[in-house]
Amino acid sequence: MKNRTLLMIPGPIEFDPAVLSAMGAPTASHLAPDFVEAFGQALERTRILFQCPDGQPFVLAGTGTLGMDSACANLVETGDAALVVNTGYFGDRIGNILERYGAKVSHVRAAPGDHPALEDVERALKTGSYKVMTITHVDTSTGVLADIKSLAALGQRYGALVVVDGVCSVAGEELRMGEWGVDVAFTASQKAVGVPPGLALLVAGPRALAALKARKTPVGSYYADWNNWLAVMQAYEARKTAYFGTPAVNLVFALDVSLGQILQEGLEPRFARHARISRALKAGIAALGMGQVPLNDAIAAHTMTAPRFPAGVNGADLLPLVGKAGVTLAGGLHPAIKNEYFRIGHMGAVTLGDALATLGAIETGLAACGYQFQAGAGLAAAEQAYLK
Ligand SMILES: *Cc1c(COP(=O)(O)O)cnc(C)c1O
Repeated sequence: MKNRTLLMIPGPIEFDPAVLSAMGAPTASHLAPDFVEAFGQALERTRILFQCPDGQPFVLAGTGTLGMDSACANLVETGDAALVVNTGYFGDRIGNILERYGAKVSHVRAAPGDHPALEDVERALKTGSYKVMTITHVDTSTGVLADIKSLAALGQRYGALVVVDGVCSVAGEELRMGEWGVDVAFTASQKAVGVPPGLALLVAGPRALAALKARKTPVGSYYADWNNWLAVMQAYEARKTAYFGTPAVNLVFALDVSLGQILQEGLEPRFARHARISRALKAGIAALGMGQVPLNDAIAAHTMTAPRFPAGVNGADLLPLVGKAGVTLAGGLHPAIKNEYFRIGHMGAVTLGDALATLGAIETGLAACGYQFQAGAGLAAAEQAYLK
């Protein structure tokens, strides 16, 4: 295994061998009985993953952005008001998509690394009559974790459909769609769900489907129109077939394997594992004298970490050196602070070993940059935090 590197970016991630092996199986007909069973089971498991017992799952060929696009396309008609709880780059993106479908969009923003106060969101909800409110659960450009439970309750109180971009959270952060009053949530296969890129997973609750039915105008996107996919998803779940667009057969087989692993681990233990590894990594980063983009621990994601480059270290130098030490990390994404920080993804099948290997490679890179620190300090702090 020469040239083996550890992929620790916020998606795609390291995938389990059983998942990859399903990807490599001979491609079946999308009408074959074993595919029908796998797709049906994957849909049932998606509903469980999103904790939305009365929700309708959709598994579509596409990326996380298709999840964003289809949520907006199906819920919004020209002239509808939409509120974006904006914690970074992906809040801006969903705002653009909403506008594309004709919505009048308002944003409640916070400085990079911060989360808007609940009072500010409530004030906005009070003054506008919003059909839709969107929240990014973990904004991958800042590593900020949104308080979905409180925000969704507010959205419900003011009559807005609550849409959660869970692309960097679902299967890594707690999300109780049904209990918390989230109407639509979506993710992409390549993040905490642990399947190579190419699938969007979305669950629409009853209020979202009722809003679709009540539309006066057709959905503005043909491919993303849930009306075209509803019969397909319902057929496969009933272990029958129906056609609209060819399912991504190998990806769906792989998804079913990964969802099986996720549910076997259990959602609560899985969230706890992500939290524990996150705590260890963040302790290691802090012990190396690095700050982080989220302003405090309470609003920091457990699926990724966004360390700030330490003073005197040129960011453009560090990441290639960490890569040379065997770990691939991601650069900054938020336009306002892009060159000030980098990003570590730690989701899916991630282990303590991966976190320690990552910190070791970061220490190696920092040393090569001439940064002064005590060798092993990050690793020791991470182990202590993990064992605590
Ligand atoms: C990655 C990501 C997206 C976009 O997903 P793609 O698969 O790259 O289209 C959207 N929102 C969030 C929060 C993400 O992390």
